[in-house]
Amino acid sequence: MSTLPGIVVTGASGRMGQMLIRTIQESGKARLVGALERPGHDWVGKDVGVCMGGAPLGVLVEDDPLEAFARAHAVIDFTAPAATVEFAALAAQARCVHVIGTTGMSEAEIAKLEPASRHAVIVRAGNMSLGVNLLVKLTQKVAAALDEDFDIEIIEAHHHHKVDAPSGTALMLGEAAAEGRGVQLADVSDRGRDGITGARKRGDIGFSAIRGGDIVGEHDVLFAAPGERIVLRHVATDRAIFARGALRAALWGQDKKPGEYDMMDVLGL
Ligand code: NAP
Repeated sequence: MSTLPGIVVTGASGRMGQMLIRTIQESGKARLVGALERPGHDWVGKDVGVCMGGAPLGVLVEDDPLEAFARAHAVIDFTAPAATVEFAALAAQARCVHVIGTTGMSEAEIAKLEPASRHAVIVRAGNMSLGVNLLVKLTQKVAAALDEDFDIEIIEAHHHHKVDAPSGTALMLGEAAAEGRGVQLADVSDRGRDGITGARKRGDIGFSAIRGGDIVGEHDVLFAAPGERIVLRHVATDRAIFARGALRAALWGQDKKPGEYDMMDVLGL
């Protein structure tokens, strides 16, 4: 029996679910011990490797989260907000590390994770890639160095299936810019401009979202002043960067105390 940490992937049939399964298999650092889908999903009861169009992996897709979590060291969860809240309670019951990549969670849904984090490690990040987390740090530093003569705009682009906007990453960048400036994002956030909006308010942090094709994820942080512009940019070309980050978080969390952490903690940034 392998001693590698056992990992369950939720939303196994999803874009990220399948990428996570491949990444775990190829890593040599962990083993896949469960793949979950909703009751009634046509993958349930079948080998997940075969469902993904490859060789059998010896792991059947299940629909009972608690049963799967009970045999895991960590759960990696890139699904939807309501499902993630439920998984958090069950992962805490099973004392597994819960790595949450799901975005679009409301403040109320995030608050519901708190009881679970008293019993188990939760690592949640709107973006699990090393490059984006570095971009967040840089954004905070640049925002702290510049005054409000520099208008901050965050522009993001994603594939046409994405259901939430601005992206979780854009919001992380907005929070970092606000922190650098010593303000609350909620007080300066300017979202969804349309029609006669009036002139831009000094100090606002603006968000724009582009949706199209198969764009994996692109983020620009623009600092625009009269006479000059600075642009910080991250371009993701492969979802594997998120999966590798999530696996790293699952392994990192193994010896940590219960609580809520993010990728800055994992990466030591
Ligand atoms: P996707 O292809 O739509 O996959 C979502 C998966 O979650 C599907 O398998 C879906 O199953 C499952 N799911 C949804 N609601 C569920 C529920 N109530 N119970 C059980 N399973 C449920 O989406 P994706 O592109 O993989 O993205 C998933 C999430 O990860 C999104 O929130 C996305 O923004 C986020 N994301 C985060 C990062 C990061 O680094 N943090 C990176 C990429 C994506 P059904 O098919 O049955 O609905």
